[in-house]
Amino acid sequence: MTTLAIDLGGTKLAAALVDESGRIRQRRERPTPASQTPDALKAALTDLVAPLVSEASRVAVASTGIIRDGTLRAINPQNLGGLLHFALVNTLENITGLPAVAINDAQAAAWAEYHAFDKRVSEFIFITISTGVGGGIVCNGTLQQGQGGLAGHVGHTLADPQGPRCGCGRVGCIEAIASGRGIAAQARGDLAGLDARAIFTQAAAGHVQAQQLVERSARAVARLIADLKATTDCGCVVVGGSVGLAENYLSQVQDFLAEEPSVYHVEVFAAHHRHDAGLLGAALLAQGALE
Ligand SMILES: [Zn+2]
Repeated sequence: MTTLAIDLGGTKLAAALVDESGRIRQRRERPTPASQTPDALKAALTDLVAPLVSEASRVAVASTGIIRDGTLRAINPQNLGGLLHFALVNTLENITGLPAVAINDAQAAAWAEYHAFDKRVSEFIFITISTGVGGGIVCNGTLQQGQGGLAGHVGHTLADPQGPRCGCGRVGCIEAIASGRGIAAQARGDLAGLDARAIFTQAAAGHVQAQQLVERSARAVARLIADLKATTDCGCVVVGGSVGLAENYLSQVQDFLAEEPSVYHVEVFAAHHRHDAGLLGAALLAQGALE
């Protein structure tokens, strides 16, 4: 059975066909519409999946935000161009005529990475650092979604009570400091207005403020990992996302984690599936949910 998998992120929409063995083909991408209207997102999704629908027998969506009863609710509306609510499952069933399931993108990615991990661990954490910061928690071999879909939203735990206000409404969230958007928002002087990718390039070239912004992000993520080790006693942590996978970033996280007391140390790895973890995780979950 072939699954049409869709990854709905803050920067891009991706779709692909995924077969039973997890092989991805006909992967397509387009930018996430900046418009705040559900119609713009529906039109973008319709265009994205059109060439793939005829070969699929079900749809699985991994999306940023809280997914509850098939509806997307933004926890940080900035991540979806201001969109607050979107009837994800209903819209995709209407577009494709196929049964659909939806799950939070970081939870989906966590499930795919958990299955790809070669050492068996019962407690497993995935953290994605990208436009925002998300996460997924596997406890006792089970993916945690929570009673309302909120489980694993580790980007909205506290990094600094004196830090910037996050798009979710809290002050000093990890996401406001460590995410690509957070890094860019803190840039001053000649870095003001640059995106995270450009700031990483500046950091690699020796720009002191750029290096400090990247370090601040990596330190916040290292402290988050120590908190998660204390909370779950996880056997490992896997890090993904465009910031998480940026050159020299993970080694900084590991160095800052090494400064914490040894009881909080845990092995940290780069994501195996790189940017396809959301698509694959959604397809894996659909295999269980729709059969
Ligand atoms: Zn927040």
